[in-house]
Amino acid sequence: MIIVLKSEATKEQIEQFAKELTSEHKVSVNEWTGSQSTVLGLIGDTSEIDIDYIGAQDIVESVKRVQEPYKKANRKFHPENTVIEVEGVKIGDGSTVIMAGPCSVESNEQLLEVAQKVKASGAQFLRGGAFKPRTSPYAFQGLRTQGLEIMLHAKEKTGLPIVTEIMSADHIDLFKDVDIIQVGARNMQNFELLKALGHLDKPILLKRGLSNTIEETLMSAEYIMAGGNEKVILCERGVRTFETYTRNTLDISAVPAFKKLSHLPVIVDPSHAAGIPWMIEPLSMGAIAAGADGLMIEVHNNPKKALSDGAQSLTPEQFDKIAKKVFELKSALSKIK
Ligand code: PEP
Ligand code: MN
Repeated sequence: MIIVLKSEATKEQIEQFAKELTSEHKVSVNEWTGSQSTVLGLIGDTSEIDIDYIGAQDIVESVKRVQEPYKKANRKFHPENTVIEVEGVKIGDGSTVIMAGPCSVESNEQLLEVAQKVKASGAQFLRGGAFKPRTSPYAFQGLRTQGLEIMLHAKEKTGLPIVTEIMSADHIDLFKDVDIIQVGARNMQNFELLKALGHLDKPILLKRGLSNTIEETLMSAEYIMAGGNEKVILCERGVRTFETYTRNTLDISAVPAFKKLSHLPVIVDPSHAAGIPWMIEPLSMGAIAAGADGLMIEVHNNPKKALSDGAQSLTPEQFDKIAKKVFELKSALSKIK
């Protein structure tokens, strides 16, 4: 962290400030005195220093971070990729995982049919929403606890581990048998929820917020990890831009950026990014080529009748073709040095 001091700062004030910094934080302070002003360079762990607090001090002209504010999620402090194993399936080990299933769990029959079909196509996880974050309070809100029971039933029948979204820390006990808990885009900065999930020993799929930066996403991962739960999977699902042709804009550059900045696995959700079924295939291929560890894709047995996100859902047959191509691409990519 670099702190530029005001030219009128006295020697005593500077000394006092430097003393405060070293006694309150795990840093040492280097001082450069120029003809116009003095610059302090903080060396050490600055992640816990509040940059706004520093900027608010009377003698401070400006302050700039040169080190990322996240520590546990930072590749600098953990150079190896994090590999998360769920029911024998590894995420982040260089293989490709696919999480597929409907936007919403609607019935036992619907979920079981989709689960069996996506499994036959090679998906290793079943996704499905029981608690749904809908823009309108009048839209289908999900089957809630009954939806979770249906997910668990489909797991029992197919052996597929399940991924489903949590919307409130009050529901954590209901999710005890869920394999991966999803934090949706709308809750990426629900810090109380993130803190509560930090106390679990369970993988968390953290979706990037609608208008959140890469750094903000990593800070949300840091919230979960700071509580002790280091099993975080990042998910790029498209962000809001001026573009209206697609539902969101898939930020493919987030994949190599997350991989460079962090050791956590990265999943791409082309369904919520595109919002259009025909675009799921090229976006999936692009995501894998860019280095994603896997994909999350919405599949419905009857998209036209889906209770949510039918317009972007693939039929099991469409999904089957894409899954085949994705695995073929992955094997072709592994031959390129
Ligand atoms: C979902 O996965 O169904 C969902 C609501 O996703 P997002 O939070 O990315 O919009
Ligand atoms: Mn959806």
